[in-house]
Amino acid sequence: MDASPAGNTTGIPRWGLPPWTIQLHADPSDLPKEVDFAIVGGGFTGLAAAAWLRHLEPGKQVAVFEASRIGARSSGHSGGMTLSETAAGNMPGLGDVLAGFSSILRELQVDCDQTLPGAFEIGRQNVMPNSPIEWNDSGALGVTREVPGGTIDPGKMLSGLAQRASGAGALLLESAPVESLYQEESAVLTVQGQAVRAGRVLLATNAESLELSGLAGRAQPKFTMAVATEPLTDEQISSLGLASGKPFYTVDLPYLWGRVFHANRVIFGSGLVHLEDWRELLALNVVEGRACELLSELEGRVRRLHRALRSVRISHRWGGPILIADKWEPIFKRHTEHENVIVLGAYSGHGVALSVYLGAWAAEAMLGRRELPEWQNATNASAPLQQMP
Ligand SMILES: Cc1cc2nc3c(=O)[nH]c(=O)nc-3n(C[C@H](O)[C@H](O)[C@H](O)COP(=O)(O)OP(=O)(O)OC[C@H]3O[C@@H](n4cnc5c(N)ncnc54)[C@H](O)[C@@H]3O)c2cc1C
Repeated sequence: MDASPAGNTTGIPRWGLPPWTIQLHADPSDLPKEVDFAIVGGGFTGLAAAAWLRHLEPGKQVAVFEASRIGARSSGHSGGMTLSETAAGNMPGLGDVLAGFSSILRELQVDCDQTLPGAFEIGRQNVMPNSPIEWNDSGALGVTREVPGGTIDPGKMLSGLAQRASGAGALLLESAPVESLYQEESAVLTVQGQAVRAGRVLLATNAESLELSGLAGRAQPKFTMAVATEPLTDEQISSLGLASGKPFYTVDLPYLWGRVFHANRVIFGSGLVHLEDWRELLALNVVEGRACELLSELEGRVRRLHRALRSVRISHRWGGPILIADKWEPIFKRHTEHENVIVLGAYSGHGVALSVYLGAWAAEAMLGRRELPEWQNATNASAPLQQMP
């Protein structure tokens, strides 16, 4: 695997370019015949699980099977805002996501420009008297509350997790789509027509391969958009109320989120393209159709938000998939048809910190050191996985 530019340029160029790159240095490998742990999906979730598995058990064979390139989908197209809890709020037994996320990054020595200054909830009602943000977007928009949160550089987090996983001995296999999964004495994955046996499997395939993960009809894939401005001056950033580096998201509609990125670019995001089938993602193009319309609307909104943005140049436009499950609760459970297969994902656009936090948890569950979480697993399903054969 060569050093690659942003995963999306080699993944799905039609999704547009975010303002970061993914740096990887790993050699191509042959497909293994057998591994202790197979991880399907090379986004934040799969890479965190792989890195954590090798961190805890350096002697176990771990392979990540990525259909495209590392970070090519949601993770490489994310906004990089780190938020506490889940899109559905706190869940029974979830724990402190941001503290856990920070500690995992620290322990794995992943440098991704993480900051945790807090986050602004913004809205059109109940605005704080001294709101640092005074924008105009379907009414006066200001800060309603400050909550825990922060930001990372998604390119650096992907590169860091991938390098950590591969440096610790996990196999990172790109262009290795898992075509099917069946059960013999152990789980068997079919990759490019070849069988790979695995003691345990984690499916971290997010909005795609919903038949494989057993989520077809149970979770909704969507496509959402973001733009980045050209670098602004410190004065412009201050007048926007963003000098503290706190990311922001609306708590009412129309939805808007954003953050300052390196060199004083501001990233803004909004809009959902609805899909009948996840395969539509593969043909989706941000320069045409509904995604293009929504990006134009977003750019117009950005320029009307504040005088500092009136004639701002937009340097990057992109989009990516998210997966929304019932009640917006993340899915973290045993596969309905396979005993030793865990399915993890569907963070509903709230997955930057959660993917790493739960990815590491999935690694511990695969090692039999931790139970699956309470919120989705019936009593018998939350028991530790069977002993490794
Ligand atoms: C525009 C945008 C902005 C966002 N902003 C934020 C934000 O600011 N804060 C936040 O918390 N969340 C945000 N999110 C959501 C967050 O990025 C995701 O929740 C997170 O990246 C999901 O990571 P993942 O590893 O589960 O999925 P992905 O990164 O999508 O990885 C899944 C991987 O599985 C691979 N795959 C699929 N099928 C197969 C197969 N059969 N075989 C092998 N590989 C397969 C795919 O190629 C893909 O690389 C945003 C998302 C988007 C699109």
